[in-house]
Amino acid sequence: MKNIDNKKYNFGIDLGGTNIVIGLFDDDGNFIGEEYYKCPTNANRNYKLILKDMADGCYKILVENKIKITQINGIGIGIPGKCDIKNKLVIGACNIKSLNGINIETEMKKFMDVPINIENDANCAAVGEKKFGASRNYTNSIMITLGTGIGGGIIINNKILPNTEIGHHVIVLNGENCTCGRKGCWETYASATGLIREAKKYAKKNPESKLNDIDENKIYAKFVFDVAEIGDKTAISVIDNYVDYLSEGIANLINIFDPDLFVIGGGISNQGISLLRKVRQTVQKKIYANDLNTKIVQSKLGNYAGIIGAAFLNK
Ligand SMILES: [Zn+2]
Repeated sequence: MKNIDNKKYNFGIDLGGTNIVIGLFDDDGNFIGEEYYKCPTNANRNYKLILKDMADGCYKILVENKIKITQINGIGIGIPGKCDIKNKLVIGACNIKSLNGINIETEMKKFMDVPINIENDANCAAVGEKKFGASRNYTNSIMITLGTGIGGGIIINNKILPNTEIGHHVIVLNGENCTCGRKGCWETYASATGLIREAKKYAKKNPESKLNDIDENKIYAKFVFDVAEIGDKTAISVIDNYVDYLSEGIANLINIFDPDLFVIGGGISNQGISLLRKVRQTVQKKIYANDLNTKIVQSKLGNYAGIIGAAFLNK
């Protein structure tokens, strides 16, 4: 058990469509307690029940670690959607519809009366990497998370650029349908979902491929990389195309923002150096004048980037 002192602490919450994840951190970004707290969002519920579960989780962590509520600087919440961060309003959260139009500060304070901040969840991850991770010492950086979609955040002059949607710039005109209503957005090709969709297509066309060794509906991103690793030609083509799509978007963003650092997070980034090397080479070829001055690296905080970033939104 932690001793009772006058140290200050910061709650970071990742409010996802599937789970609520809560972490408590000291001012140096260290986790308090053994583990983060996690419970299901049950996203179809009324928002009041969801916010109450978040507050209950926070109280549980406080009790377990013998920390008083007066020692809490505030709660930062990563919202899966568009936010008005100044007025603490949720503008649009597609996966948790009851949150739309809700003032999170007013409503959350009914359960826990501490300062409340909100931000888009992908931006929280970028803030986390900036405060304590890979982009810590960089003034201008971009961070992306490759998952179901592509989230991410752009940091210019040490500040996050609000309200960006980094996954939704079109790289294939009239391409695959995107959840945003357009076609051919970067995330439809360069997210894990995009990789899996292409792998299924290629597997069907190439019955001899080892991609067919598991049920079509069970194909997952790491499996495609593993099959490519053992020399399967079909899987290699899928990965080569994937790297091309991923690099196309990265080159676009680097051409526009000229960041010092580009951080790649999310499950696919666990492919580590072999993937990064291919991406660097491909981006180098696509970048204006082939003059790549941006370092491309893997995320340091992994899955924790979002909750750490949320906890330090105001610092
Ligand atoms: Zn889109």
